[in-house]
Amino acid sequence: MSEKEYKFNPQTLAYEPVECPPRLRRYRTARRVLLLFIAAATLNLVVSMTYYTPKLSRLEQRGEQLTKEFEVLGERIAASDYKIDQMRQRDNNVYRSLFGADTLSIAGTYTPYPASTYEAYTDDYGGIVRSAWMALDAQSRLLYRQSRSLDELQIFSKDKEKMAASIPAIWPINKKDLRGPIGAYGRRLHPIYKRYIQHKGIDFGGRKGDPIYATGNGVVVHSEKGLRRKGYGQMLVIDHGFGYKTRYAHLSERIAKVGQEVKRGELIGYMGSTGGSTGPHLHYEVIYMGQNVDPINYFRRDMSEAELDRIIEQAKTTTFETLEGTANE
Ligand SMILES: [Zn+2]
Repeated sequence: MSEKEYKFNPQTLAYEPVECPPRLRRYRTARRVLLLFIAAATLNLVVSMTYYTPKLSRLEQRGEQLTKEFEVLGERIAASDYKIDQMRQRDNNVYRSLFGADTLSIAGTYTPYPASTYEAYTDDYGGIVRSAWMALDAQSRLLYRQSRSLDELQIFSKDKEKMAASIPAIWPINKKDLRGPIGAYGRRLHPIYKRYIQHKGIDFGGRKGDPIYATGNGVVVHSEKGLRRKGYGQMLVIDHGFGYKTRYAHLSERIAKVGQEVKRGELIGYMGSTGGSTGPHLHYEVIYMGQNVDPINYFRRDMSEAELDRIIEQAKTTTFETLEGTANE
C-alpha cells in the first residue's frame, strides 16, 4: 500500500510529500488490524448475548427435549413402582400369610444408597437425572426383595399341603372356655413386680381341666413336670417341622407323650396352674426358627379379621404368672 504523508513547507508555501519510514508504516498497519479485530469481537459478543446463535438454539432445543424425555421416564418409573407395590402387598397379605410366612426382611435392602452416590449429577439437568437414578435404584432393591420372596414361596408351595396342616393355626383352647382378656405377647410391665419383662407367649385364662389342643400337626418333642412354683410347670413342646414349634405351659395334666405324632385339634393335655402361675391359664408360645413370635398372628384360620382385632385390642399385661414363670428359659 502506498502511504504518503504531506508536510507544509514554509519556504514553498506548499504541502510536500514526505516519505514515511517503513517501521512507522508497519506499526500503523498492525494497529489497524488489531482495532478491527477488537471491533469484530465486541460485535460478536454483543450479538451472541442478545440473539441466539444457531448452534445455541439447537443445544437449547435438545436440552428441552431431554428434560421432557426424563419427565416421561420418571412417569414410567412411578407407574412400575405402583405395579410392584401392588404385587408386594398381594404377596405379603395373601401368599405369604397363606403359607404362614412372616414378612420378608432382608437386611440392607431398605436403606437408600448414600447421597454421595449421585454426586456426579450436578449440572443443569443433574436434578432430573439424579432423581431418575434414585428411583431406579429403589426399584431394583424392591424387585430383589420380591424375587427372594417368590423363591421362598416356591419352596413352601412344594410342601404346601403338609405345611398347611402343620403350621400352628388354631386356638389351643376352646374359644368359649376363655375367661378374661388374653395376656399379650411382648415386653410388658409386670403388674406385681413393676419390672419390664419379656413375655414370650400369650396367656389364656380359663378353668382347671379345660382341654388343650395341638395347634398344628407335629411330634411331641418335650414333656416335663417342671418345678412347683417356678417356670413353666407341666409343659409340652410340639415340633411342627418347617421351623415351627409350639409350647403349652402350666398344664394340670399332660396327655400326649414324647415322640407321639399329634394332629391339629388333638387333645394333648388339660389346663392348670402349675409352675410360676397365679391362676389357671395356658401359656402358649409359637417359636419359629428358634425365635419366639407373637402367637396372635397364628390364629388367622380360626378368626375373622374383626375378631382378631378385638382380641389384640383386649390383650393385656399378663396377670397369670410370677416373674420366674415368664422371665426364665
Ligand atoms: Zn404367659
